[in-house]
Amino acid sequence: MKKILVTGGAGFIGSNFIKFMLKHTDCQIINIDKLTYAGNLDNLSGIEKLYTNRYKFVKADINDNDAIGELFVNGLDIVVNFAAESHVDRSIETPDLFARTNIMGTLVLLQNAQKSWGNTPIDKLFIQISTDEVYGSLPEDKLKERFTENSPINPSSPYSASKAAADMLAMSFYQTYGLPVIITRCSNNYGPNQFPEKLIPLIISKALNDEPLPVYGDGQNIRDWIYVEDNAKAVNEIINQGIIGNVYNIGAENEIKNIDLIKQILDILNKPYTLIHYVEDRLGHDRRYAISAAKLNALTGWSALSDFTEKLTLTIEHYKK
Ligand code: NAD
Repeated sequence: MKKILVTGGAGFIGSNFIKFMLKHTDCQIINIDKLTYAGNLDNLSGIEKLYTNRYKFVKADINDNDAIGELFVNGLDIVVNFAAESHVDRSIETPDLFARTNIMGTLVLLQNAQKSWGNTPIDKLFIQISTDEVYGSLPEDKLKERFTENSPINPSSPYSASKAAADMLAMSFYQTYGLPVIITRCSNNYGPNQFPEKLIPLIISKALNDEPLPVYGDGQNIRDWIYVEDNAKAVNEIINQGIIGNVYNIGAENEIKNIDLIKQILDILNKPYTLIHYVEDRLGHDRRYAISAAKLNALTGWSALSDFTEKLTLTIEHYKK
């Protein structure tokens, strides 16, 4: 039975990953989370009772070297590092906080893993959860172009820059100490448990209250949406079959303009388009993301299977409740 340290497990993707892993594997999970504004233990309600011997929550900051060191003393096989400051708008306001959590926090985890596991350990794994945003923006006029793992790192926001820096540190631990590192770079996730400042839950909650829906710029920015459980499945495939020292992109080949996504949500909710209000564009706003997950598919056969309209409707039902 593998013992997995999941960081940031009270957040959006971490909580969905934990539920998926407890349900579909026999692993044991220790979830550590600082419980910032984005962390919510209600995302995991009932889990402790349902999986008494396989799940434990510890409130801790990934920057707390002593607390992290203690967790490694009790033996860990895998680290999956979801913990992060994740909201681009907030990174424009407080870039220092993003550097502290996303870069320094990751470094604390890497150092403790290396110290505890030693150089070139066998049967251990450190998965750094990164983002497609480290690649920056794709040109709008080359619609066939997608990010691959070989695309240059070219982040635009303090958020994506901090994630890119963490990726570099993680890979340096692989190169220098043989720490078994794998990096995932996923596109935009949607689904239950997302903090309602992010686009999809924000639009749903405002539309339900008949409030104006803020749309950045001209609304033509393109994002590549993946259902959160498809991401969880991909990370599990990587745990089982991923090759250390590699980066794997995760995406669903599901590009949608922001404005079209908002209209689709309004259609499902039966709300008028007059709620849409264009607002001043976000600073440094990336125009288009699109990701190729061909490398992961070739290795594991994984692909994102969820139907977008079906899962978007299910997500809307979740936020309605
Ligand atoms: P989130 O903001 O919902 O959750 C982050 C979690 O980390 C929260 O529970 C928060 O309390 C916790 N946390 C923050 N600082 C911490 C600290 N110092 N110590 C311990 N815990 C801390 O984020 P999310 O959307 O679930 O994203 C999870 C990861 O996936 C992030 O690393 C993010 O960069 C990456 N990612 C997200 C998306 C997306 O679409 N949401 C896409 C690609 C990659």
